[in-house]
Amino acid sequence: MPISYQRAREIARRLSRGHAFNELSDRLAPVAESRRPLPPRVPRQGDWSADARAERIGFLEERGVPLDHLAGRAPEPDPSTLQGNIESYIGMTMIPTGLIGPLRINGLHSSGDYYVPLTTSEGALVASYDRGARLLTLAGGASTLTTTEHVQRAPGFLFETMAEAALFAAWAVGEFDRFREVAATRTRHGELADLMTHIAANYVYLIFAFNTGDAAGQNMVTLCTAAICADILERAPIKPRTWFLEANMSGDKKATTLSFLYTRGRNATAEAVIPRSLLLERMRTTPEQMAEYWRVSFIGGVQTGSIGVSGHISNGIAALFLATGQDAACISEASVGVTRMEVTGDGALYAAVVLPNLIVGTVGGGTRLPTARECLRILHCDGDGRAARLAEICAATALAGELSIVAALCSGDFARAHETLGRPPLAPDA
Ligand code: NAP
Repeated sequence: MPISYQRAREIARRLSRGHAFNELSDRLAPVAESRRPLPPRVPRQGDWSADARAERIGFLEERGVPLDHLAGRAPEPDPSTLQGNIESYIGMTMIPTGLIGPLRINGLHSSGDYYVPLTTSEGALVASYDRGARLLTLAGGASTLTTTEHVQRAPGFLFETMAEAALFAAWAVGEFDRFREVAATRTRHGELADLMTHIAANYVYLIFAFNTGDAAGQNMVTLCTAAICADILERAPIKPRTWFLEANMSGDKKATTLSFLYTRGRNATAEAVIPRSLLLERMRTTPEQMAEYWRVSFIGGVQTGSIGVSGHISNGIAALFLATGQDAACISEASVGVTRMEVTGDGALYAAVVLPNLIVGTVGGGTRLPTARECLRILHCDGDGRAARLAEICAATALAGELSIVAALCSGDFARAHETLGRPPLAPDA
C-alpha cells in the first residue's frame, strides 16, 4: 500500500509502541519447540460426543477463561441488554463454534501460543485450520505485523458546476486541523488522521480517514464525519446543492480496488518458512508442489478478475468474525488478501498472507455479546489495547488455512477430507 513518508514515520512511531525497531527482528523470529515447549493440543479432536465437548470447555476454563455462555450454562441474555445490537429481537441464531490450536504467533502485537475459536457450519473447516496451525507452530510460528490503521467515511457534495466543486475542495483541504478538532468532540479514542479529496466533474468526495482505537469504528467514523459535515455546511464559502454522508468511496462492506491502495481497518501480514522435511512429514507434499500450485491458482485468480488472490482466506476470517462479534458484512473487504508461496534458496517453503482491510475491534459493536466476549477472552483479546493483536491473530489464522488447503490440493487430501468431514455420517440403515 503506498503511503507518504510523513504518514509512514507517524505510523512507525505509533506502531512500534516505544520498542526500538531493531527489536522487531527478535520479536518476529520463529520460536522452536526446543526453546519454548508447546502447550497441549485441543483435546479429543475428532470426537463429537458431549463428553469430549465438556472436556474441551474444561480445558479452556482451566486456563482461566470462564465459558458459561458457550457451555450453555448461563441463561439467555436479557433482551433489553441487546439494544444497540438488534431491533425486533426474536432469539439467538445457533452456529457451532470449534477450537484450533495451539497456534504459535510471533508478532508485533501478538506473541504466544493461541487457541483460536472458529464459528462455522462448514464441516472440515476447523480440522483444516487446525492442521495448518499445527504446521505453522511446529515450524516455529507465524511472524505477524500490523502496519497501517484507518477507517474511512466518504461524504459526497454536489454542486452546480465543476468550478464550484473545485473551489469547495480547495477550501476543505485547508480546514483539516479544524476538522480534527470537530471530530475530537465526538470521540475520546478516535482521531481524524487523514483527508483525501476526489473531484468528479461537479461532485466532490471528501474521504475522511480515522484511527479508531480498539473499536472496529464504523459507527465512530459515521458520527465524527456527521459532525464535520455539519461544520462544513455552516462555514463553507461555497455551499453544495445537496450532500450525502456516505457516497460509496470508503470501501465499506465491499471488496473494492481501493483494497490495496489504502487500509480499511488494519493492514496485517503473516509469514512463515516451513522446512521441507516438516512439509513432507505432515502434509505429504513438497515446497515445489506448493509453489507450483500457488502459481497456477494465482494465474487463475488474475484471469477471473479476483480482487486479491487467495485460497480460502474468507473461511477463516468469516469464522473468526462470527466467533468474536465483528460486523459479519465487513468480511466483504476484510477477506481481500494476497497469498504467496515460494521455494526458498535452501529448499524450504516461504508462505505469506497480506490482509490490508482487517476491520476488527475488541470493544464496541457486537464484541459485547456474551459468546463474543468469551471468544475474545480465549484469544486474550478482550478490551482496550488489543485490536491490533486480534488483527494479527486473524492474519496468522488465515495463513494456517492457506497452507492447509494448498497442501491438501497438492497431496490429494482435499476431496477426501470433505468426504469424511463435510457431511453428517450416514444413518446405519441408509
Ligand atoms: P461502537 O460501539 O459504536 O463505538 C465504540 C465505543 O467504544 C465508543 O463509544 C468508544 O468511545 C468506546 N470505547 C471504549 N474504549 C475504547 C477504545 N479503547 N477504543 C475505541 N473505542 C473505545 O462501535 P464502532 O466500532 O464504532 O462501530 C461498530 C458497529 O457499527 C458495528 O456493530 C457495526 O455493525 C456498526 N456499523 C455502523 C455503521 C454506521 O454507519 N453507523 C456502518 C456499518 C457498521 P469513544 O468514541 O468516546 O472513544
